[in-house]
Amino acid sequence: MNDIRKIAFIGAGNMTQSIVGGMCKSGYPADHIFVSNPSPEKLEKMKSSLGVNTSQDNIEVIKQADVIVLSVKPQLMEQVCADIKSKVDNLADKLIITIAAGIRMPKYRTYLGDDITIIRVMPNTPSLVGQGMSGLVTDSADDKDKAYVTEVFDGVGDTLWVADEDQLDILGAVAGSGPAYFFEFMDSLAKGAMELGFDPEKARAMVQQTCLGAAQMAKESDLTLEDLRKQVTSKGGSTAKGVEVYQQRDLHTISADAVKAAVKRNQEMA
Ligand code: NAD
Repeated sequence: MNDIRKIAFIGAGNMTQSIVGGMCKSGYPADHIFVSNPSPEKLEKMKSSLGVNTSQDNIEVIKQADVIVLSVKPQLMEQVCADIKSKVDNLADKLIITIAAGIRMPKYRTYLGDDITIIRVMPNTPSLVGQGMSGLVTDSADDKDKAYVTEVFDGVGDTLWVADEDQLDILGAVAGSGPAYFFEFMDSLAKGAMELGFDPEKARAMVQQTCLGAAQMAKESDLTLEDLRKQVTSKGGSTAKGVEVYQQRDLHTISADAVKAAVKRNQEMA
């Protein structure tokens, strides 16, 4: 990483552990990373495995950092921000990153002040295995801040900047919820094989590697997804017969409806 700043994570849960793990793996100096959490167990684990600075006091870590990452559950955010606002007087000088789902940037301004610089990031669970898809949006950060945050989240997968928070809702409905759609789809494929007598463990192994391989091919290819599909579908062959079933049952509409339903729910919760 080129831009090294003192960064404080508020909350040492699953997401923080993966992001900090990714940063350390990418060479970010552990002595510039601070993590706070009310209970000591997660902190001790992070301190011993990664060598980062830890504290049970949010304010202590924030005061030492240039960047704050708010990584508590959304329902705790207002209370955590109120405490920060009442005890830290130079919040406008720090870059604030939040990974909480659902809370929009104007809300943070009511919590922390109109003059804050804020970036919202929507990571997804594959970040836990270094294969995340994080969406990012800001209404106030400059290019230097944006490049810094991009590098941080590149440590746990890919990053994608979107234009506004409506777009982030769409990204959440595809990338955030997407792992669940894929698990559902993978499960149905495996069950299809099992109904024909395939062993469950072998069915799972076959499906997960096929999914990974197809995703890798899509990532490495310049072809459209439709052309990639055509490439493995010979006319009159067995794949064509299988694809025909998906097309007859209109998989495209099913998936588009799923995304729309998740976006709607995201917006209802905002
Ligand atoms: P988590 O429950 O694993 O971690 C939250 C941590 O916050 C816990 O360790 C908890 O002890 C700590 N905490 C509680 N009260 C606190 C306080 N007052 N001060 C400091 N820390 C406190 O949750 P997570 O999965 O890591 O999620 C963190 C955030 O990331 C959430 O806002 C969630 O919406 C968002 N997010 C998570 C995912 C995901 O896939 N897990 C995806 C996108 C966004």
